[in-house]
Amino acid sequence: MSQSRHEERQQRLKEQVDARIELAQIERGVLLVFTGNGKGKTTAAFGTVCRAIGHGLKSAVIQFIKGSWDNGERQLLEPLGVPFYVMSTGFTWETQDKEADTLACLDTWQHACKLLSDPTIDLVVLDEITYMISFHYLPLEEVINALTHRPENQSVIITGRGCHRDLLNLADTVTEMRPIKHAFDAGIKAQKGIDW
Ligand code: ATP
Ligand code: MG
Repeated sequence: MSQSRHEERQQRLKEQVDARIELAQIERGVLLVFTGNGKGKTTAAFGTVCRAIGHGLKSAVIQFIKGSWDNGERQLLEPLGVPFYVMSTGFTWETQDKEADTLACLDTWQHACKLLSDPTIDLVVLDEITYMISFHYLPLEEVINALTHRPENQSVIITGRGCHRDLLNLADTVTEMRPIKHAFDAGIKAQKGIDW
């Protein structure tokens, strides 16, 4: 392609992008969902937390499935003033006690509700909350209600596989992580700094 053709095309593209930027005028908090079976949902959420606190905004994290105690993002962010609430019973995939898990989930949800009604928190992460809904530990309507009535400028990130359709509908931005391949399937162990 000749240089002038290229310039012409880039100029047209720039005009289209500028016009779309001009059209986006609404300012409010957004609901983001990172779902799908591929790796990157929780790390994308924490990337966004870093972005927010880098601008001096306030963020808080609720984790509905207990990760490793040696959780890299928590070790970095908590000392920087990002509170973490991690579901206390040590809920894991191996759990057998539905009643105890439901109680732990509802207790953690109470913390989430406080954050979702606090206008001083700019960004709330509800990590792995999708499972609480699919396991029926947490009523979907309650989650939708809290999200709908949150402060106008507050943004929320939901992560987890199999996100309920109603939450996808409510969300402003939805990204599906699609696994193309994963090291684990080739027998490579999960590792510090990459997987937790
Ligand atoms: P990450 O925390 O790395 O962003 P994730 O939040 O997308 O991953 P989860 O389903 O929450 O994924 O799984 C948590 C753990 O499982 C992480 O250690 C992650 O590296 C690993 N993992 C994620 N996706 C896959 C996959 N497709 N196959 C194997 N392990 C995976
Ligand atoms: Mg995750």
